Amino acid sequence: NHAIDKQHRVCQYLPNQQADSKARLSLEARLRRAIDSEQLFLYFQPQFTLADRRLVGAEVLVRWRDQDGNMISPGEFIPLAEQTGLIARLDHWVFERAIEMLAGWQSHLPKDFRLSVNFSAVSVSRGLCELWVMELTEKWKVDPHYICLEITESSIMSSPEQAKQSIERLRSCGFDIAIDDFGTGYSSMAYLKHLPVTHIKIDQAFTAGLEHGKADQQIVRAIVTIGKSFGHRILIEGVEGAGQAKLAEELGCQYVQGYHFAKPMGGADFIEQYLKPAANELIYQLA
Ligand code: C2E
Ligand code: MG
Ligand code: MG
Ligand code: MG
Repeated sequence: NHAIDKQHRVCQYLPNQQADSKARLSLEARLRRAIDSEQLFLYFQPQFTLADRRLVGAEVLVRWRDQDGNMISPGEFIPLAEQTGLIARLDHWVFERAIEMLAGWQSHLPKDFRLSVNFSAVSVSRGLCELWVMELTEKWKVDPHYICLEITESSIMSSPEQAKQSIERLRSCGFDIAIDDFGTGYSSMAYLKHLPVTHIKIDQAFTAGLEHGKADQQIVRAIVTIGKSFGHRILIEGVEGAGQAKLAEELGCQYVQGYHFAKPMGGADFIEQYLKPAANELIYQLA
């Protein structure tokens, strides 16, 4: 059975915490090579306004197809990259590829479009990314106002003072900043008032519970209220159905990302479906 075989092979490459360090080392070596070869690529997941379903941006999501054609999910290799220090190179690689794409799209985008790129705790908390983020943005002649950097709540909390300073400097250069996976990172609400972020992304765990009783609705309502009172824009993640979308809108969320609206897709599909009528010209640039 092909599916089982595939799954089995994927499992071999994904040692859990107890697995021997040899398997882990080989995955690390493979990831190291993957960053320099053609095995990593970018997917894009569109983001919309909830009220009128207008495209307002896309999140860049990295994908890894290894030399045997197995897809390895970022949920598996990002944590490994974080433990081994490869994450700094990965973040840099993803950011440059994303900016390169954006440079080609720039003149075809709605004015309020944002391309969101994920940044790991390491890149943000050591204050290292600021230099190369600005360098690459200048190199590719992209207006920072088209770029949103996503930082998870938990990575902010791993080094709050450093993160705050990084966020301030990035903001002053014109980048938008989103707190990703909000509600799962144990930050105190008091912290929010010090962080000059522009967007809050409500974690999909709350979305999943929206239709199962009042508790998650109340949490979402509370996040929306406090976020908006600080002037942040609120996006809800992981919306998979019309019922969730309706509730999210009623609870005051402004933006949405989720399978119900669009799944992550390759660059050519994104251009084809969302950046028409410029699609032909852009696909030509991609080739
Ligand atoms: P995230 O940044 O919170 O990204 C959202 C994840 O939810 C993505 O999974 C996306 O495919 C998935 N998703 C979107 N809509 C739905 C939905 O309606 N239902 C469900 N069940 N899932 C949905 P993905 O691509 O597997 O990424 C997982 C995580 O890996 C990301 O979470 C992010 O933390 C990390 N990641 C992905 N790409 C990068 C990257 O380039 N750099 C860094 N540092 N981290 C990345
Ligand atoms: Mg994200
Ligand atoms: Mg998220
Ligand atoms: Mg996440």
